Amino acid sequence: MPPPRLVELECPRCRGRHWVIDADFRAAFMAGGVDVDYDQREYQCRVCGQQGIGHKVLQKSPPTFLIDLGRVGTSSLPYWEAVLKEQFPDHSKVATSKSIHRTAVKRRWWRFW
Ligand SMILES: [Zn+2]
Repeated sequence: MPPPRLVELECPRCRGRHWVIDADFRAAFMAGGVDVDYDQREYQCRVCGQQGIGHKVLQKSPPTFLIDLGRVGTSSLPYWEAVLKEQFPDHSKVATSKSIHRTAVKRRWWRFW
């Protein structure tokens, strides 16, 4: 079963960026979920509030990241941990990972707003 991943999406209306946790194959992730590509899924934009399809995937975490932090290459691990902590501070992995870095993710996407 494909694990859920951190996915950064771009809103088709305002180009705002936001993160979700979702799986490449949703049917396995959510019971009854329909297996469609990300751009055919409905998400609500956190920037402009519009709900709908057409979001573009900008980044996806490594497939094993939310399952086993230790299996992610060490070079990219701090980045994804920082994303997780900043975007999903209540996620169970944040509490269990001792290595989560306290520094915020470099907010390079902010310059597009
Ligand atoms: Zn938007």
